Formats: sequence, C-alpha cells, structure tokens
Amino acid sequence: MHETMVAQSLMVIITEQAAKNDAKPVAAKISCGTLNPVNDESLRFAFEAIAKDTPCEGVKLQVEHKPLRARCKNCDQNFDVELSHPECPMCGGDDFELQPDAPLILEEIEFQTESRYEKS
Ligand SMILES: [Zn+2]
Repeated sequence: MHETMVAQSLMVIITEQAAKNDAKPVAAKISCGTLNPVNDESLRFAFEAIAKDTPCEGVKLQVEHKPLRARCKNCDQNFDVELSHPECPMCGGDDFELQPDAPLILEEIEFQTESRYEKS
C-alpha cells in the first residue's frame, strides 16, 4: 500500500531529524502532487500505527495537495489544471502542455522546542 510506504519513509526522516535536534517532533508537513496523491486519512492511519511507542508517536501530519500545472499552447498562459474541467482559463483552449506532477516532499518538521527543520 502506497501510504504505508510513505508513512515509513516519513518516520525514518522524522526520527533522524528528531535525534539530530534532540527534540520531540510534534508535527510534520508534507506536500504531494495530483496524479499520484496520498490519501490523508490512510496516511495518518498508517503513520499512527507504525509510530506507536516511538518518538514519533503523536506527530500530526499535514498534507498539502499541490495542483497540476499546465501551459497553454495557444496563449502561453500557465495555469492550475482542474481535472474535472481541463481547459485554459484565459482562452478556453484545451491544447496545453502538462507540467510534471509535484513530487511527494517532506516540507517541514515541527519540534516541541522552537527549533525547526526546513527543507531548502
Ligand atoms: Zn490559453
């Protein structure tokens, strides 16, 4: 299951960073794309299950879903694709080039202290 694998790799990184910062992680923010999204509920469930009795127990996961971007070949407009209604918002054209889907990224881990790990 996709979410279980994601949860496991998240936990590895969070545990590493927690050890490095010598702080208890309280929350983590991740972002993912549109074509291969993670299911928020499944991910939280999987994470809770494997984080039990570890320093990651109780970490709150926040998932940001990034829209799919495209560039219109007719008017050169860059826009967010509505999957239910894929057309250029400027000219209404449907001849556009899809940009690569956003990868799954761990954006930020929040620790109990003020120190933060931020991915550059
Ligand atoms: Zn257009």
